[in-house]
Amino acid sequence: MSARLDDLPLRDDLRGRTPYGAPQASLPVALNVNENTHPVPQEVADDILDGIARALRDVNRYPDREFTPLREAFAEYLGHGLSREQIWAANGSNEVLQHVLQAFAGPGRTAFGFSPTYSMYPLLTRGTGAAWVEGVRGASFTLDADSAAAQVADAQPDVVFLCSPNNPTGTPMPLDVIEAVYDATPGVVIVDEAYHEFAPHEQQSALTLLPGRERLVVSRTMSKAFAFAGARVGYLAADPALIDALRLVRLPYHLSALTQAAAVAALAHAPTMLGMVDEIVEQRDRISATLEALGYAPYESWANFVLFGDVDDPADTWRRLYDRGVLIRDVGIPHHLRVSAGTESETTAFLDALASIDSGS
Ligand code: PMP
Repeated sequence: MSARLDDLPLRDDLRGRTPYGAPQASLPVALNVNENTHPVPQEVADDILDGIARALRDVNRYPDREFTPLREAFAEYLGHGLSREQIWAANGSNEVLQHVLQAFAGPGRTAFGFSPTYSMYPLLTRGTGAAWVEGVRGASFTLDADSAAAQVADAQPDVVFLCSPNNPTGTPMPLDVIEAVYDATPGVVIVDEAYHEFAPHEQQSALTLLPGRERLVVSRTMSKAFAFAGARVGYLAADPALIDALRLVRLPYHLSALTQAAAVAALAHAPTMLGMVDEIVEQRDRISATLEALGYAPYESWANFVLFGDVDDPADTWRRLYDRGVLIRDVGIPHHLRVSAGTESETTAFLDALASIDSGS
């Protein structure tokens, strides 16, 4: 007979917690975790394979602990005059965020985010033994600079998460909110730009705010725009001193030689890898327009997904879509569901399935 969790000498602060658990069902149309559903183009896949093959020859040795070529490639991709000393990377931006929390949160400290926001922030925070504190958003999940700064000044957190654009709502975050929050706290401010590439092209990144702000962190991921979720590569840009703090908590050799080789090869093809972004944005906007025509209330999204309200019974709609081979996400906001923008045909499958539910057919 196997033991139950309660029988184990588990940390008290982890008792009763539930793990991250987005369903991983193999349905024909999976639009539930904001993946990029376009496969990596063949010519890029060929180069990645060559890079991995070369790395394999030395796989008996530990990898470059400083992943120097990869940090250089990220600095070049991000631009804004960044150099490799300002770049960090790990196995997905989840691990990048965990490193920041390990260094700047931890027991007796707090991390803060404006709810609803990315569900991993509280889990990662509590995993380090820190407490999670939630702020509130205004109408339609927006945030204004005065309210955001006042809430942060009041909570005095050690780490603040600003998700820009926000998951699960898609809400844009103006740079003045980030500046105001930074000025309202002596803590570390993380701007999570996981979905930045899907925002309007003229939209400025928080990277423009880095000079002179040594407590500001801008995190990104290859999981979304780069269609690289399975490879697990996330990264951030910050002051070199902040990067040094992350070296204190990372595991030695945390990025495998194969991961480094794959990411370097993919980044060399950045324009091709990002070629799908415009197409995804087109499908996202088509989803919003069609949802509105069907009588739902989609929110403005600068990401690769759409949150929509006016759903009478989200659990029932979710199940009916599931039965039609379409997987989307019930993010737990009453009367709302979230769907990722897929390829044109996946998007059509979702919209047709939803329309057929609505018409009772
Ligand atoms: N930040 C946000 C806002 C996300 O939505 C996600 C993934 N859904 C991540 C970070 C983590 O992505 P990854 O670990 O794949 O880089």
